[in-house]
Amino acid sequence: MTSLPLIPVDPDAPGARRASMPPQHLADLDLAGRKALVTGLGEPAFRARQISTHYFGRLVRDPAQMTDLPAASRARLADQLLPRLLNPVRELACDDGATRKALWRLHDGALVESVLMGYPDRVTVCISSQAGCGMACPFCATGQAGLTRNLSTAEIVDQAVYLAGVAASGAVVGSPARLSHVVFMGMGEPLANYNRVVAAIRRLVAPAPEGLGLSQRHITVSTVGLVPAIHRLASEDLSVTLALSLHAPDDELRDELVPVNQRWKVSEVLDAAWAYAARTGRRVSIEYAMIKDVNDQPWRADLLGRLLAGKLAHVNLIPLNPTPGSRWDASPKPVEREFVRRLRDAGVSTTVRDTRGREIDGACGQLAAAEDMGTDPAGNLSA
Ligand code: SAH
Repeated sequence: MTSLPLIPVDPDAPGARRASMPPQHLADLDLAGRKALVTGLGEPAFRARQISTHYFGRLVRDPAQMTDLPAASRARLADQLLPRLLNPVRELACDDGATRKALWRLHDGALVESVLMGYPDRVTVCISSQAGCGMACPFCATGQAGLTRNLSTAEIVDQAVYLAGVAASGAVVGSPARLSHVVFMGMGEPLANYNRVVAAIRRLVAPAPEGLGLSQRHITVSTVGLVPAIHRLASEDLSVTLALSLHAPDDELRDELVPVNQRWKVSEVLDAAWAYAARTGRRVSIEYAMIKDVNDQPWRADLLGRLLAGKLAHVNLIPLNPTPGSRWDASPKPVEREFVRRLRDAGVSTTVRDTRGREIDGACGQLAAAEDMGTDPAGNLSA
């Protein structure tokens, strides 16, 4: 690695492209806000609940299907509350249909992706919080292109509502029909779009018809480690799961792999994680991409073990998913097994993440909107 990139932590700061935010949508507002808007349009307040029940309760996103609304009201409400935010570009499936990736074009042409993963006991969606990402982690495809803009709250929520609808249609054979888990592990750094991400979480957990009614502990926010934002998240009345993308136990290597480490060091970010765990009672997930001959040495496993022993933490090792043109590769399985063994010997609970969606570029860190790069991901199911 030659030079270390500068990190624009505040995406609205000079240098980050000025946001071209989409029109307001009902998912940007809580129920009270929707009622105020609806009555402001001269409609009875109960229409807010009616339209919310369609969207969050029945997962109906298309106003044309809301046939219990009088036509004139429907047009007015659709215009103000249900603008189309996500234009489908393509949808890909793999793992016998249990993994699906949706690529969206936003109103300003920005591209984002979302992934649905069906398991026997749950359905998880992985959603994007920004178009692109400003964190510049060199092993991550999204990090290579830089930040385009923050997503609005509704652009975030609508990804989950759409994929919840896909699951509800029974499309994911062998999995429950109800979406249960949401992970903010798609494109973007969620804590760099703090207010909109927290509002999106509130919509995801509010009971229908205000929101999707998911359990807080089934929502995971994954971060590179923006320390002030972790503290702030701990002080919200939310107890979502925090995932920290650590990837190295020492500052020298983490400064390269997760450049924001130049601002907040390993010890600071772990302290913030433990404060989060103490405040919420929730175990923090430590994410660690296994990169051959880079961060997978036994001594690094031992150092990581010492940092995490006795803490409310769980290690999630992610086999590196090499990005196109990358000089890095995943660690060999025996090296990975030794890493796991050493962590477990240190008393640290450790698992290896499955690698869903590889063939559709839907696996971790691969969400780079291949369309934009002129390449065609597997392309076996076009929408
Ligand atoms: N910005 C957030 C969330 C997005 S990435 C974060 O960094 O946590 C979700 C996870 O995928 C992170 O742990 C990230 O480090 C990891 N990841 C990114 N690129 C990867 C790759 N090529 N292989 C494996 N994991 C990767």
